[in-house]
Amino acid sequence: MTRIKSVRARVWTWTGPTVPPQSNFCTNASDLLWERGDAMQSFRFHQWLTCEVEAESGEVGIGNAALAPPLVKEAIDRYYAPLVIGEDPFDYAYLWEKMYRRTLAWGRKGVGMTAISAVDIALWDLMGRLVGKPVFKLLGGRTKEKIPVYYSKLYADSVEAMQAEAASALAKGYQAFKSRFGFGPKDGMAGMRENLKRVEALREVIGYDRDLMLEAYMGWTLDYTKRMLPKLERYEPRWLEEPVIADDLHGYAELNAGPIPISGGEHEFSLFGFRQLLDLNAVSVIQYDTNRVGGITAAQKINALAEAYQVPVIPHAGQAHNYHLTMANANCPISEFFPVHDVEIGNELFYYIFSGDPEAVDGFLDLDETAPGLGIEISDAHLQHFDIAG
Ligand SMILES: [Mg+2]
Repeated sequence: MTRIKSVRARVWTWTGPTVPPQSNFCTNASDLLWERGDAMQSFRFHQWLTCEVEAESGEVGIGNAALAPPLVKEAIDRYYAPLVIGEDPFDYAYLWEKMYRRTLAWGRKGVGMTAISAVDIALWDLMGRLVGKPVFKLLGGRTKEKIPVYYSKLYADSVEAMQAEAASALAKGYQAFKSRFGFGPKDGMAGMRENLKRVEALREVIGYDRDLMLEAYMGWTLDYTKRMLPKLERYEPRWLEEPVIADDLHGYAELNAGPIPISGGEHEFSLFGFRQLLDLNAVSVIQYDTNRVGGITAAQKINALAEAYQVPVIPHAGQAHNYHLTMANANCPISEFFPVHDVEIGNELFYYIFSGDPEAVDGFLDLDETAPGLGIEISDAHLQHFDIAG
């Protein structure tokens, strides 16, 4: 038996070129404050955390997290690393409970659970490497030949620019598309019309035989969303994502009783958080992010619970840790996919830090049967564009 020898958390800060955001590219929770200036700041993050768990035998499992990386690093260094060092990496369920219960007072949501997620993902990658199998094989194996993906970008821009982007994605073979709203309550009726104009323009390009998902990133209010839903219904969205802030569970439930499926959960944490959403019929699609929700160990429990409710799970973000869970669960029908592009919002950093994350081809992606663990490695191809701490 090999034991855990060390845990190394590093913060990667992007210092390379970034694409400046256009105005109104996506609503967000800070819009309600009517702040001017860079109100999009809360939607951009240019840091990532890597968490390497090394076994005495020399293998290294790689985890990651993207929320508040400097705080998550501090939490891992001070609290979580000492709890797992010296332990057997295959005791993942015990180690998860140990990390959770020893820090419950402050760690059950937010930074603490994000740190648990990073360590847990590293443990699963390490287990895969130690037995020479991909993580999805450890989770139950292949439930689909390939994973269908949806194209997730289409930030609000001019109608012409959004139509051109959708046409380009369509030509590459994508069959489902997610777009972001640029206007919310502070923009009034005129902003509502700007939102609707763009949804209509996208339907003009992709037609009505393909899925269109719509995302407000918590930038709307319950009142505003209730006024928008009847206007959106004719465009047949597959879902409306995070219309209101993540804490407004009853708001989600009220909206989800309407004609448009409501999705959410990328800012919810742990099995208990999702039990609340499911008990309230608050969402029609669950979108946990494995590197926030409690890692692969928590995600598998949520998958089982969601399956019993027959609510599909479509994790937030692409990225290996989410793909392996999607491959291994019949109740995870598709994956989100961020097309590789220049560093803009921050999701793109995953491609710059890691190699091996699968690419979508003709609207599908596949996982390598022969790559042990999550199948990704820390890349040295872009080191010149990062400050790395730790
Ligand atoms: Mg989202």
